[in-house]
Amino acid sequence: MFDNVAPHGAEQQPAQVDEAQEPPPVRVCRTCSVQSQTVGDFCPHCGKSYLHARRMPSRRALTIAGVALLLVAGAVTGIAVKVSHDRSEERAAAVADKRDAEAAAAQKEAEAREH
Ligand SMILES: [Zn+2]
Repeated sequence: MFDNVAPHGAEQQPAQVDEAQEPPPVRVCRTCSVQSQTVGDFCPHCGKSYLHARRMPSRRALTIAGVALLLVAGAVTGIAVKVSHDRSEERAAAVADKRDAEAAAAQKEAEAREH
């Protein structure tokens, strides 16, 4: 009756377990510095995301950004000064033209009256 029972310590055990289930990687939380073995993106200890934690920008990068900002600000200021200078010159020229035209018209009118 029990002759067909499979022997203990069977030789045909499924050999496909380890490949699909790698152990979760060990990650160090940058917020609370707790080392956790997890596949998730969040620290199990404090709940902060591992992905959003960034290093502070280096001092060199800040210096470069500051210099670039100064250069851009200087360029913008120079352009603004030049534009306003050109505009005022244009305005002065336009006013002068208008005066000349008015003077010419007045002179023409006076000449027309004399005749
Ligand atoms: Zn944490």
